[in-house]
Amino acid sequence: MDLFEHQGKEFFARYGLPVSPGEVAFSVDEAVAAAERLGLPVMVKAQVHTGGRGKAGGVKFAATLDEVREHAGNILGLDIRGHIVQRLWIEKASDIADEFYASFTLDRSAKKHLGMLSAEGGVEIETVAAENPDAIAKIWIDPVDGLDEATCRAWVEAARLPAEAVEGAVEVLLGLYTAYTDGDADLVEVNPLILTPDGRVHVLDAKVTLDGNAVFRHPDYEQYDATQPRDEREKAAHAKGLQYVGLDGNVGVIANGAGLAMSTVDVVNQVGGSPANFLDIGGGANADVMSAALEVINNDPAVRSILINIFGGITRGEEIANGIVEAMRRVDISSPIVIRLDGTNADEGREILRPHLSDRLQMEDTMLAAARRAVELAG
Ligand code: GDP
Ligand code: MG
Repeated sequence: MDLFEHQGKEFFARYGLPVSPGEVAFSVDEAVAAAERLGLPVMVKAQVHTGGRGKAGGVKFAATLDEVREHAGNILGLDIRGHIVQRLWIEKASDIADEFYASFTLDRSAKKHLGMLSAEGGVEIETVAAENPDAIAKIWIDPVDGLDEATCRAWVEAARLPAEAVEGAVEVLLGLYTAYTDGDADLVEVNPLILTPDGRVHVLDAKVTLDGNAVFRHPDYEQYDATQPRDEREKAAHAKGLQYVGLDGNVGVIANGAGLAMSTVDVVNQVGGSPANFLDIGGGANADVMSAALEVINNDPAVRSILINIFGGITRGEEIANGIVEAMRRVDISSPIVIRLDGTNADEGREILRPHLSDRLQMEDTMLAAARRAVELAG
């Protein structure tokens, strides 16, 4: 679950991290009223599920209420990397002496938590990583051991933070690690973490991703469900009762069973293609389910070919084949389809499909060959 900056800061505040007071606003008038209550100057900040808001004009300093009005008017409705701004965070402005970067995330291949800290904050960390990788101090933390103060201090020193920031940074990073682990987050990122002119280390931005599987441990996380960005394709698929996850590629994938669907996605990648989705139609593959699946995939403008990978189990091959033939009659499909049908009564199923084969509907014997063909067709 991805949190808005203001939700991330509320989350941090529960763990005692130093964040600025602020208020959410959905209109210009609400923004002005919030600034009046908070006291000037304030920052007017777009709340969207993407970074780089500052560069896009979505983060503005306001010294007067007129400036709050002007900035709020400009930022509401702004398109930031495809996200339209509908809510603002009005925050008491901080004075900045220096900007740093800090984050914790899971390094799955190392099976450890990864902490990253840099004295070069305020710019995108990808830029720092590309241009000046030595400026990022990394630490791998065994979740069983956790992060102790001495290790944290050595890490801060390795990142060459200015001397006056060291104590404050150690304290904030220990708190941030606790928020990350106890809060069941997959990512916490603070960019910038700032040093104020009076020597305090303070959290100025918050990017937080919580583990949706941990909601049972944190019932209050349900509140974030309503503000999750939803893929339109996923909405349509879920409305039809399909298990669908949207991806970025151009090969539509339909398979029966989650394991087979995952393998299909893997194989498409393995042969150099890029899946447009994960779609599990479940155990059966009758005409209704198959039509629904084809419709959802057909509505995705990125799709260039469709790979149907079915392994008959309890559902027999001829039922599946009839389902596919009937679904193709019902749905007007704009991309070529490649089918691989195996399992119970596969031969009978293939016989039913054979008279329907053409450039638009092709069949392969193996999953690998079918994936290759689908990727080829996707160009
Ligand atoms: P992002 O661009 O989406 O990462 O948004 P940030 O919240 O990081 O804000 C972008 C930039 O605005 C920061 O790097 C700061 O330089 C600046 N900024 C944010 N809040 C304040 C503030 O309270 N005071 C001042 N002076 N600058 C701020
Ligand atoms: Mg930032």
